[in-house]
Amino acid sequence: MSWRATILTLYPEMFPGHLGQSIAGRALSEGIWACNAVNIRDFATDKHRTVDDTPAGGGPGMVLKVDVLSAAIDAVADGRPVLAMTPRGKPLTQARVRELAAGPGAIILCGRFEGFDERIFQRRAIEEVSIGDYVLSGGEVAALVVMDACVRLLPGVMGAASSGIEESHESGLLEHPHYTRPPEWEGLAIPEELRSGDHARIAKWRRARSNMDTRSRRPDLWDHHGDDRVQPPSGARQQKKEE
Ligand code: SAH
Repeated sequence: MSWRATILTLYPEMFPGHLGQSIAGRALSEGIWACNAVNIRDFATDKHRTVDDTPAGGGPGMVLKVDVLSAAIDAVADGRPVLAMTPRGKPLTQARVRELAAGPGAIILCGRFEGFDERIFQRRAIEEVSIGDYVLSGGEVAALVVMDACVRLLPGVMGAASSGIEESHESGLLEHPHYTRPPEWEGLAIPEELRSGDHARIAKWRRARSNMDTRSRRPDLWDHHGDDRVQPPSGARQQKKEE
């Protein structure tokens, strides 16, 4: 059974979008994954097919109606995780992407305007997901981001490269930088270690650069990168807390 993405959106024609190209596109035509975009408007009940209404309490913009959203979700729900794209959600991580890719797929709800009536999250099991601390005009691009990150991990999509354990964020660190021919360009040489042919030396250089770059570029990642790995003995942790 292929990994299935069902997207609830007001703009179904935006899918599969860029995922119809390149490696994701090939995997799509090979049936490794499937993409089904469903128009939220199909679940509107009035003759104008209204999906939004003005915000309670006043203010600008429009809010997606909870009755329409619930009807759309209920029509496609089948046990796959339901994600709602929102800047109020939990930031997406590579760890969560791995879990999603290992499952049967996802149902992804895309917001527009001011977003969703909050009550949908109280009555349906929905994971609110953010792709970063900035605001988009709609959830469609965010949904494509989630799908892209998952699809490249599916078996058979990327070959050896997708084992990806050295990739940025897989270990909690940034990956080391890459180089390719020509060996010299505008006075810049490829680091000598990488040209040495000495595998141990290359591995050491890559580890060192990964550590160094994470530390300087992403101190937030560096501070936590050991957290998911082997924990020190409880005595040592205790001591650390008391410091
Ligand atoms: N009023 C909302 C923003 C609405 S933006 C707020 O301030 O929280 C319109 C839609 O774009 C959202 O419903 C959501 O689906 C999508 N969106 C915008 N920024 C996003 C982000 N960082 N991550 C995921 N989805 C986002």
